[in-house]
Amino acid sequence: MKTIAFIGLGNMGSPMAENLIKSGLALQVFDLNREAVKRLQPLGAKVADSVEEVVQGADTVITMLPAGVHVRAVYLGDHSGAVGLLNLVKPGTFLIDSSTIDPESARIVAEQATNKQLDFVDAPVSGGVAGAQAGTLTFIVGGTDTAFKQARQVLQHMGKNIFHAGKAGDGQMAKICNNLMLGILMSGTCEALNLGIDNGLDPEVLSNIMLQSSGRNWALELYNPCPGVMENVPASHDYKPGFMSQLMQKDLGLGIDAALKSQSSIPMGSLARNLYAYHNANGNQERDFSSLFEFYRSRG
Ligand code: NAD
Repeated sequence: MKTIAFIGLGNMGSPMAENLIKSGLALQVFDLNREAVKRLQPLGAKVADSVEEVVQGADTVITMLPAGVHVRAVYLGDHSGAVGLLNLVKPGTFLIDSSTIDPESARIVAEQATNKQLDFVDAPVSGGVAGAQAGTLTFIVGGTDTAFKQARQVLQHMGKNIFHAGKAGDGQMAKICNNLMLGILMSGTCEALNLGIDNGLDPEVLSNIMLQSSGRNWALELYNPCPGVMENVPASHDYKPGFMSQLMQKDLGLGIDAALKSQSSIPMGSLARNLYAYHNANGNQERDFSSLFEFYRSRG
């Protein structure tokens, strides 16, 4: 049986790991936060106390971490003297990073992995916590053709659509473009719903109208930001994440970094990042990103 080491069991990593266990794969898990792994232990996951321990005997490593700085530290080591997993895994171990990070970090890790004759792919995801739970995530993979084929064997247990975006780092670039659009669409959805409510419309009626009209989009269809309109979304549970608002700000920042390099204009994405920066500075960073709706509702 294949043994998988899974590092980063947060909002996304935990349900993804659960689906791997359900598929009959042996799982070893590690997270800096001991609480994060608790749900997985009774399901049969072996809990490790360190990166060094979790990769022992693993054939595949999957990471699901917040940002590039965490991914570089886990794979390459850091200034505290922690050894990166590229120096800890057995020869032939296959490496998958599903975090959303800057393409440059993904390329650096891929290059260092290649230097050690290890295959690495960046495989960020789309679909949110609901998609992670249902095993219907979209994976956007960057890496060689061979590595992509190998990645698909593992990713199919957690997702439905698995795309090959291109070479190392290209999965991250495609994911950044997607989240730039998501940040803009979520802001626009909050704005339109708030305008309707302010002018006497029922948000549920308005949502249904826009869902059958040209304003239809993913946020409106699956992630309505107005409390009470949809049952199983963060908005109806006090904006419990979900996808933390600070992570959306990070992703929009990644879009801005990329645009600076390519000299692209991204006025809408820049505005959305500023809205999230303001919203997060007001204490909403750990709430779901759809809580931006409250920014529009507040009349402070
Ligand atoms: P999260 O903050 O809930 O989980 C991240 C986990 O990583 C935490 O449990 C944290 O303790 C752990 N961690 C951090 N540094 C670590 C280290 N050095 N060693 C071990 N564990 C460490 O975040 P999340 O919502 O699960 O998102 C993870 C990634 O997926 C992010 O890059 C995010 O942008 C992306 N993403 C999230 C969603 C979503 O809906 N939440 C959707 C798509 C993509």
